[in-house]
Amino acid sequence: MPSVCLARTPLTDPIPREPEPLVSDAVVRLVEKRAAVIDDEVARLRFVRRSIAAHEAAARRRVSFLRRSFAAHRASRRRLYLSLRIVFMALLLAVALVPEAPRTVPRRTVPSNPVRRIAADIAAPGVWLVERQATIEIYSNGLRVDNEFLTSTRARAYRAFDRLGWRASAVKTQPAGIVFHTTESRMAPFEPSQNSRLQRNGRNLLAYIAQHRLYHFVIDRFGRIFRVVAETDYANHAGQSIWADEGNIYWGLNQSFLGVAFEAQTETQTGDSNDIATRAQIDAARVLAEMLRSKYHVAAMNCVTHAQVSVNPQTMRLGYHTDWAANFPFREVGLGNGYETPIAALTLFGFDYDSAFLQANGRRVWQGLVTAEEQLVREAAAHGTTVELYRRTLRQRFRAWKASEATASTEDAAADRP
Ligand SMILES: [Zn+2]
Repeated sequence: MPSVCLARTPLTDPIPREPEPLVSDAVVRLVEKRAAVIDDEVARLRFVRRSIAAHEAAARRRVSFLRRSFAAHRASRRRLYLSLRIVFMALLLAVALVPEAPRTVPRRTVPSNPVRRIAADIAAPGVWLVERQATIEIYSNGLRVDNEFLTSTRARAYRAFDRLGWRASAVKTQPAGIVFHTTESRMAPFEPSQNSRLQRNGRNLLAYIAQHRLYHFVIDRFGRIFRVVAETDYANHAGQSIWADEGNIYWGLNQSFLGVAFEAQTETQTGDSNDIATRAQIDAARVLAEMLRSKYHVAAMNCVTHAQVSVNPQTMRLGYHTDWAANFPFREVGLGNGYETPIAALTLFGFDYDSAFLQANGRRVWQGLVTAEEQLVREAAAHGTTVELYRRTLRQRFRAWKASEATASTEDAAADRP
């Protein structure tokens, strides 16, 4: 399959440019500094957007005034130095052409990729398979995996896209990351009197998940880990989804990422991950993540929740699925703070989110959303355009890229399950 080359496709639509950047880095920094005192993150984002827009409008007025003044001054000079016009024209042309050269490259360097800072990665310990006993596998870090419900789909095969040129890689077969889910299934109170109901719910759920090949792994409420879809195969867990690490963009994570589901409901959250998952589930997720990261060399920044990657390309909004929109115990699972990673769909493709999405986050805005918004403001300024125009251009590029042949191979497995 041919790769997508930005140099030869409509994706090269230039970012709309003004002759000079309207808002300087210094102004952006000043706005950010002023915004820092606003506690509420949504209000802070709105303040930054409003302020930058006001600065841009003022800058436009200044540019217009300067242009008019310069035109008048030039007319006066023309009258005074008519006799020297030809000589001056030649000189002016020579001078005018000099600044054109650097205009073919970005006038300012786009701020360095903030994911690099976050991804100063947390190393996974080396974990190995110790022994198999019937359907049970035992690993060196205490992990036990039960294969009683093991099924298969088709062998994993996907292409990643390089972050700079969006060109497709060769076909990959190793998972690049992990998406954590909640099953959103029926929950019984977690207490001894409910023991048989808890067990029955768990087994019914596993049978359903195996039938539909929904996740690679399920962690039941007692912290038992079941492998449901073979690690070599894709599973129907992520639907339409996007993520990016330092080097690659991943589209359709059913193929490229492993799915790990907690038997749990995000809706029952009261602000504490222990109210969503049991202690045993969190401990199980830690040893499972250690094994998978060790086996496939998965970076911590590629261990994410479904809410962080799920998108709706029709509405260009985040959060088609919102499981683990908040309170995923990243630190306890040994993954730092995954909510800090800038959301790739925002910074690369101009996706947005609405109040319903923020509500699913338990009214907390992830640091990753704030960082992504700030990055958009800086990049729009660096390209000499407004945030809204910049976002629109990103969306056009995304649609062209998504419609291209290179992403087609991931589409069949990206269809959202009901
Ligand atoms: Zn999910």
